Amino acid sequence: MPPLAEHLEERGIDAKRRVKVLFPLPLFKPYDYLAPADCAVAPGSFVRAPLGPREIFGVVWPGEGDDAPADKLKDILEIAPAPPLSPSVIDFVEWTAGYSLFPIGAVLRMVMRSSDALRPPKMLTGYVATGEAPPRLTPQRQAVLDAAADEPLSARVLAERAGVSDAVVRGLAQTGALRAVEIDPDPPFAAPDPQRPGVALNDEQQAAAARVASHIDKGGHAVTLIDGVTGAGKTEVYLEAAAHALAADETAQVLILIPEIALTMPFLKRIEARFGAAPAPWHSDLTGAQRRRTWRRVAEGQARLVVGARSALFLPYTNLRLIIVDEEHDNAYKQEDGVIYHARDMAVLRGARAGFPVVLASATPSLETVINVGEGRYDAVGLSRRHAGAAMPDISLIDLRETPPPAGSWLSPPLTRAVDEALSAGEQSLLFLNRRGYAPLTICRRCGHRMKAPNTDTCLVEHRFSGRLVCHHTGFSMPKPDACPACKVVDALAPCGPGVERVAEEARQRWPNARLQVLSSDATPSPAAMRAALDAMREGETDILIATQMAAKGHHFPGLTLVGVVDADMGLAGGDLRAAERTYQLLTQVTGRAGRGEKRGRALLQTYQPQEPVLAAIAAGDRNAFLAAEAEGRRALSFPPFGRLASIILQSTDEKALADAAAELKRAAPNGDGVEVLGPARAPIYMLRGRARMRFLVKARRDVSLQAYLSDWLSRVKTPSNVRRTVDINPYSFL
Ligand code: ADP
Repeated sequence: MPPLAEHLEERGIDAKRRVKVLFPLPLFKPYDYLAPADCAVAPGSFVRAPLGPREIFGVVWPGEGDDAPADKLKDILEIAPAPPLSPSVIDFVEWTAGYSLFPIGAVLRMVMRSSDALRPPKMLTGYVATGEAPPRLTPQRQAVLDAAADEPLSARVLAERAGVSDAVVRGLAQTGALRAVEIDPDPPFAAPDPQRPGVALNDEQQAAAARVASHIDKGGHAVTLIDGVTGAGKTEVYLEAAAHALAADETAQVLILIPEIALTMPFLKRIEARFGAAPAPWHSDLTGAQRRRTWRRVAEGQARLVVGARSALFLPYTNLRLIIVDEEHDNAYKQEDGVIYHARDMAVLRGARAGFPVVLASATPSLETVINVGEGRYDAVGLSRRHAGAAMPDISLIDLRETPPPAGSWLSPPLTRAVDEALSAGEQSLLFLNRRGYAPLTICRRCGHRMKAPNTDTCLVEHRFSGRLVCHHTGFSMPKPDACPACKVVDALAPCGPGVERVAEEARQRWPNARLQVLSSDATPSPAAMRAALDAMREGETDILIATQMAAKGHHFPGLTLVGVVDADMGLAGGDLRAAERTYQLLTQVTGRAGRGEKRGRALLQTYQPQEPVLAAIAAGDRNAFLAAEAEGRRALSFPPFGRLASIILQSTDEKALADAAAELKRAAPNGDGVEVLGPARAPIYMLRGRARMRFLVKARRDVSLQAYLSDWLSRVKTPSNVRRTVDINPYSFL
């Protein structure tokens, strides 16, 4: 008998009431169940209930029950011993589903990401020294007793620390020199101390911090952009804001969102130094046990400071009072798999719904945010100078039409001269190319065959590091063949174009005595390798760093004075609506790494199109001119943020079914005032993992509810089961 029913029967209770349970599955609504009348389920309670052949955990959802006949209803089986979800999390799940048009159960699944967190974990046995001396005190035993002097530790950890076998620990427990105690495998997080003094802020920083603090004190929702040049000390300002929010309410929780997991380690250390306690981390690289610990401690309200990637928005906070979105312009905030959402936008929604302030920080704010500031919806504070008087780097363009690199190489004479100069001055250089691998294209010199991924319309990228050809869209990889698969001629496959590995090869030949380091997700795949590479750069142990965008963001390398951008034109080729903006942001970020220490920095951008407005604006350091031109371009086309946009993507392994479904969907599109439906058209990557893909683009005026239009439209058509339909509100990817 299920435990709850048993418990109630013992107490002679059989009265029941109807509750709605939402499951973390792609379902559009909760289902009705029966719960014993007097048991403590309330909206937000985690309960286990039968669903088809399975028994799974879901959440009791607020609102009225549906009309399912009472005699068809099943009983809930168990109430999980976990704190219920707070009403503000439930509200956020509802609004995220309504905004993204994904099933509400799929959004709930993002909240229930730690599968084993609903039951308390099994206690572990730990040992602590009793102070009693064992009859025979060997050096090994002494080492264990020393390790167990302060806090109880498991036998394995003790043995590891003392460098002995587990048997020594157990032996000591038998003599009474160690006492066994229970230890929690998910220990509480140390409390952040908001009173601890931070660095002394300069005038601008003080004014900025005071402004954010005033929003916190006023209470209610407000968005503030901290708009400061790279290295201005934005982080110090928002940590001050976090301290203010933590001090203002002793149960308050604060979330700091960061775009890249690669940045977390140094960042966590920085926060620990500021608050005297490590924050609770949340990102995809955590182990199951670490996830469970953060999830549970956040759900209890015990973890008060959380640092995480975008999914940390969906943790079960009890009293979230402030969200800080660092590098708010970063595209990594857009989640493209599963429920598609933009974490910056959802953070603002979360704050607006629950009535608390949100802080956005960036040196290159998104056009969306800039327009929101311009129209008075967001507040903004500026930091115009680098901390401690460091100057902004000199930025200039290298026109590759005038000074091309020698045949077969990628670095032009002006750039190699600059690296020579940096090397002889004992300074560091960064060569930046945002392309992983050795060569983006492998082509047969005999028959022209291009190496492509199977069942996918993408070119394979050669990776010399691993000796493989890799598809960056699907992860498919294969050894590089000796012969062309089409014409069978041996040794005719040639690499075209550079990736970081190829630039590294050239640098190694040119500067054989320099200390080189490649930083990319292939060259430094593990977090430890990446940390080591970044540490070496920070400590000045690397002369030339050759890196993808992993090096562009957030890092502080005091000895770096030269940034060389190998291909400044690269991001402009894609041609989607944010191509210029993205290029502007990335190049500003990467050039902003130069000269953050005592010496002035410079950046050289290799380009074939020096007349491109984006590049001219970067070279002139004229952000406002760039943003004004960009805004004009988008306004003319009614693209976001001046109009609304959504994509609908249909995909299927059956091309005929796909074409029919697309045609039927098109026919069903209602006429809407201020709405324009473009497509269906073949997606630029038409075939992906064996699935053919078609896209619609829906444009709407800003005063039109795009969600209402889409819901109405999509509810008119049932897509066949072999065609998958995905909605992407405000798309960032058009592939
Ligand atoms: P940003 O986030 O704007 O790029 P950071 O906050 O990382 O800049 O600051 C750049 C560097 O300057 C960091 O090493 C930071 O600790 C230091 N810094 C910034 N403001 C101050 C300050 N007021 N006092 C001391 N150091 C500061």
